[in-house]
Order: sequence, then structure tokens, then C-alpha cells
Amino acid sequence: MNRVIAVCNQKGGVGKTTTAVNVSACLAIMGKRVLLIDLDPQASATVSIGVDITHCKTTSYDVIVDGDTIQDALVATSVKGLDLVPASLELAKAELRLSQLDEPDTAMRKACEAIREPYDAIFFDCPPSLGILTSNALVAAESVVIPVQCEYLALEGLSALVQAIDVVRHGRNPDLEIAGIVLTMTDFRSNLAREVAEEVKRFFPGKVFETAIPRNIRVAESPSFGKPVCVYEPHSTGAMAYQLLAEEVAKKVLGLGGSEAVRVPLAAAEGPTP
Ligand code: ADP
Ligand code: MG
Repeated sequence: MNRVIAVCNQKGGVGKTTTAVNVSACLAIMGKRVLLIDLDPQASATVSIGVDITHCKTTSYDVIVDGDTIQDALVATSVKGLDLVPASLELAKAELRLSQLDEPDTAMRKACEAIREPYDAIFFDCPPSLGILTSNALVAAESVVIPVQCEYLALEGLSALVQAIDVVRHGRNPDLEIAGIVLTMTDFRSNLAREVAEEVKRFFPGKVFETAIPRNIRVAESPSFGKPVCVYEPHSTGAMAYQLLAEEVAKKVLGLGGSEAVRVPLAAAEGPTP
């Protein structure tokens, strides 16, 4: 079953881009065909996966604002099986341009319909807002993955996000569902992190992925090398966590079970490195 998945939380710095890039990459390494669409004007996903934005002629801005096809914007990444629709800094102007349209939030859905066939999964890396770019991703997607950082005020804003998802579900996209919450940058040695995790589980019963992503220096370093952490440092605890999360996403979101959800051929036997 192929799925379009929006990685979404209007809070900045919670691990959206890190999760979108690393889960996409792990799924591609598992042999899936994956497309990552960068919808953030800061273009962090594009840069993190090693694509030079100055060489991208057509970007998600051209697709969403000017109606260029996604095919024109596709670039292959260094990870086999993972394609990217890059973002550009121009996306910062998109909200204004799109707000002048009758249907400001449907462009990405139309663009995706034309391209989704060959992919097992399409991920949107959303910007840190609930504006028109995020609405475009929510209208195009069937599933929302919400990264939540286990910190003070983690739940703040989540009601607004759930409401925004409900508005889209009751309007343009009845198929939309929250696929799961990912706890990110966790350090369960701290009482606060454990308490916040419990609170998130109470707020989203049954929706929190079993795999939490620990705070790990290799995860933070890998974007500056233009590589997902599972390529940059496959034996790190961060890479292993994202591998497990990708397996959970394959099973719970893409509906791949048993032998189909093959393990990512990395780290495996050896113990974790920091
Ligand atoms: P968002 O896309 O929600 O703004 P990012 O994915 O860019 O958040 O993450 C914010 C910052 O935290 C980045 O500098 C990223 O490298 C870092 N980061 C994300 N996840 C981890 C992690 N598990 N361990 C350490 N640093 C992380
Ligand atoms: Mg981001």
C-alpha cells in the first residue's frame, strides 16, 4: 500500500526534518522506493540529504506556486531508491502567492497524484507553521507523523495541530489520519523526559510509536555531511533508532508485514557506538 505521509508539527526544532530524512533514507535502504518532498523554505531536508540547492532549477516552490510538474523537480539522492523534490528559499514567498488563489491548499495533492504510482512512500517535510504550505501537505497526505520533543511545554500547541488536522479531515481530505507520534531527542535518564513521554501517551492513546529517538551527537552531525545518519554512522544509537522507527512505519503505516518489512542491512550484529 503506498502512502503519502506529512511529517508535521508547527513547533520548530522538534525533529521533523531529521525524522523525515532518516525514515525516508532507512526505508529506501530497506529496498522501498521513497520520495521526500521538502516544503520548508529553510530547505534543511534538501541540504541534509546532500543536494546543493544552487543546482536545483525546479523546486517545490515551482510545483506548488507555478504548477510545474513534480517530474521536473525530481532529483536522485546519494541514497539508492530515495528521490527528492528540493525546496528553495523562494518558498518563503509561497504563502503570499497561494493565499491569492481560490484553492490555496490543493496544488500539492494534484501534483502528487501524477507521481505517486511508483513510490512505496512519499514524505513531506513540513515547515514550522500551520500555514498554507503545511495545509498543502495535509490535503495531499493520508497519514501524519508528529515528532514531539520530550521537553517542558512539549504538549503546547499540539491541540492546535490536532484541530488543524481535523479541519482538513472534515473538509478536503476525509482520509487523513494521525499515523503516530515520534518522541525525539529523548534522554530517559531525566525525570522530566519520562513524565513528558507519559503525558504524550495519555494525550494520544495508542498513537505513540514504540521507538523513541534518543539524543545522539551523530544524528546532529550527519546533516553537515549531507548524509542520513544510517549512512554517516550506521552503528550509532541514533541510526539504530531510526532503523527501528522505519521498520515500525513500514509495518504500521505502509502496511508491510513479515518478510516484506525487511530489516535495514546496517548495524545489526555489532553493539551501538555513541
Ligand atoms: P525541525 O525540522 O522540527 O525544525 P530538526 O529536525 O531540524 O527539527 O532538528 C532540530 C535540531 O536538532 C537540528 O539541529 C538537528 O540536527 C537536531 N536533532 C534532531 N534530532 C536529534 C537527535 N536525535 N539527537 C541530536 N540532535 C538532534
Ligand atoms: Mg525542519
